[in-house]
Amino acid sequence: MKKAIVKVLVINSGSSSLKYQLFDMKTGERLAKGLVERIGCGGPKDHTEALRKVVADLGEPKDIDAIGHRVLHGAEVFKDSVKVDKAVLAKLDKLVKFGPLHMPANIGGIRACQQIFKGVPNVAVFDTAFHQTMPDCAAMYAIDPKYYKKMGIRKYGFHGTSHKFIVAEAAKFLKKPVARVNLVTCHMGNGSSLAAVKNGECVDTTMGLTPLAGLVMGTRCGDIDAAAVLAIMEAEKKTPAEMDTLLNKKSGLLALAGSSDCRDICAKAEKGDKAAELALEMLAYRTALYIGAYNTVIGGADAIVMTGGIGENSSEVRERIVARLGALGVKLDKKANKVRGQVAVISAKGSKIPVVIIPTNEELMIARDTVRVLG
Ligand code: ADP
Repeated sequence: MKKAIVKVLVINSGSSSLKYQLFDMKTGERLAKGLVERIGCGGPKDHTEALRKVVADLGEPKDIDAIGHRVLHGAEVFKDSVKVDKAVLAKLDKLVKFGPLHMPANIGGIRACQQIFKGVPNVAVFDTAFHQTMPDCAAMYAIDPKYYKKMGIRKYGFHGTSHKFIVAEAAKFLKKPVARVNLVTCHMGNGSSLAAVKNGECVDTTMGLTPLAGLVMGTRCGDIDAAAVLAIMEAEKKTPAEMDTLLNKKSGLLALAGSSDCRDICAKAEKGDKAAELALEMLAYRTALYIGAYNTVIGGADAIVMTGGIGENSSEVRERIVARLGALGVKLDKKANKVRGQVAVISAKGSKIPVVIIPTNEELMIARDTVRVLG
């Protein structure tokens, strides 16, 4: 008989850090959690050395049954989580171009685990996989199709593990099977994205080829006219790499109001800072805009679900978003909206669509998927 998978290690391997969590999947309990930093820049020399540190932190565990890895990009190759073997690794190596910063670290983490946890199965869980059900009309860009064929330029979407977790939890909360639930899921943190979910499947999402598109974020601009990008490049003679940094790391709330942290912006706005006030209104406006659009796309939502650092905690931002949803018949319960970090309905009794807060747990979702794939 096959041994049951109980202890699952979840690895989120970044370019200079490695986060891990250990779960007991019989109880769903988290047994350990940690972070190794400064990989390749003063700390451990590479991911294998970083993982040795994890093994030491965990007290030389002998009973890890499986390892789940967060992987940024599966492109169209991986539409679901997958057990890693030689062929999968070869395919992953070919996807580095879709995430030149993250993919080598993600793959490095998998290779390190193969070395250190000999014989323990590894599963790759992709940020993009949940969005692979998008129809072409949502996923394609209106440019010469040769760029899709040659380079894979299209919308992929990210935060898929979080959206998938939220869909499963929201379905439970609404007492509906996942396959019958229609939702607008809003993951709002440093990076933010919305997903339109019809019958449990993603039919559209706000991020694109990369996580730059869509909402106003901590340091990313979200949607912008591509011609504006070209105009700045031309005027300031910027290289593509410099432009990438400007749009991904020096835009969003940071550029608009001096901090990428939503708490700072809320505090400034409260004191009457006009730039912070505008930044919050831009963030709320664009979020509400997409909620309205996605409600149309899915033919009416059973619920609007909010999660992520901002979605779970910021009554201020939630109030500003919901204030713009009057046309959908959505009404806020101001008292209920004071809640932080727990499952709660924040819409008023008469609201046409309930607004629900559900804390996300991407690591637990990765662990669940690992068990499912190996099951
Ligand atoms: P990441 O996308 O890096 O995982 P998080 O999901 O943790 O980030 O979200 C971080 C964001 O959540 C920050 O902008 C932070 O200000 C915001 N946030 C966390 N707690 C609160 C709060 N109590 N009020 C407003 N914003 C909050």
